[in-house]
Amino acid sequence: MSFPRASDSAKLLIIYTGGTIGMVYDDATGVLIPMGFKEIKYHIPEIARLGCEFDMHAFNPPIDSSNMSPDIWIQLAQLIHGHYHNYDGFVILHGSDTMAFTASALSFMFENLSKPVILTGSQLPIGEIRTDAKENIITTMEIAGAKKNGEAMVPEVCIYFDYYLFRGNRTKKNNTEKFDAFYSLNFPPLAEAGIDIQYNDANIIKPAAPSFSINTKLNTDIAVLKLFPGIAINTVEAVLHTPRLKAVIMETFGNGNAITAPWFINCLRKVIDDGIIVLDRTQCDGGSVELGRYETSAYLKAIGVTNGNDMTFEAAVTKLMWLLGQGYPVEKTRILLETPLRGELTEK
Ligand code: ASP
Repeated sequence: MSFPRASDSAKLLIIYTGGTIGMVYDDATGVLIPMGFKEIKYHIPEIARLGCEFDMHAFNPPIDSSNMSPDIWIQLAQLIHGHYHNYDGFVILHGSDTMAFTASALSFMFENLSKPVILTGSQLPIGEIRTDAKENIITTMEIAGAKKNGEAMVPEVCIYFDYYLFRGNRTKKNNTEKFDAFYSLNFPPLAEAGIDIQYNDANIIKPAAPSFSINTKLNTDIAVLKLFPGIAINTVEAVLHTPRLKAVIMETFGNGNAITAPWFINCLRKVIDDGIIVLDRTQCDGGSVELGRYETSAYLKAIGVTNGNDMTFEAAVTKLMWLLGQGYPVEKTRILLETPLRGELTEK
């Protein structure tokens, strides 16, 4: 389905958090440092001609997205909540490095979102002649303002980059150099920009109820155990005995397979019996965990490992933080981890 333009009456809030998109080279040191939003408007005068109204909110100072944190996700959620009724859509200019984490975190904190919240950035700073910032910002604004029968075309938290719109919690940065820096291997794009913008309407989630709200309670007591051949018991124990640990994401091989040595199984069984959640997520970016398909994962199911299904790492981290923040009992948290809440996993 294609709808050419942002609605003329659309009003957008553009939130500039920082990232390469607004960076310039520092004359003294030669490293990239953030510049202000004034310069962005100067470099893309076309945004004034898009036909939709917009206001801007710039972080002061802008930050490299490596310094993003749950506190800032909460600030972003509150900012959007506070301005929700004043705008038709929200554009977040963000560094690409942790953009997928921010998009995923926001998707869980928002309930019944009925307006687009679209993150974008760029690989080259806005002042560079070959910058990808221009296209990314202009098309993001078009999509954020696009409506059909008065309703937003894409009422989801998304990432737009290099002609594709992806569901944010399905997206991963996979390339540090190419303009197509993101992919979503387990879910199709929500839109593709060519001469027209083609929307994948059948895959776009519509709000279940009219009342938008935010729930920003997060708990960061999680850790990651990435398996590799030769991983030592002291490494595994160090991660599993992290103080205050409530859940660990275990990054496994292939379909969710892990080491079957008795010492490893015992380490896992012990922490699970102590009420710590072990979430199995495959190290592969495409495909899914299938506990029990191989002998090397059948025992994981038996000892109470939770199935991470086809969630991205970014979705797994932020979903865990959000679910733990709700203070649910362990069993309910485990069930919700395996249940799609915001389209972040494919139910089997
Ligand atoms: N380091 C930058 C950041 O994530 C890279 C980028 O913007 O793409 O903030």
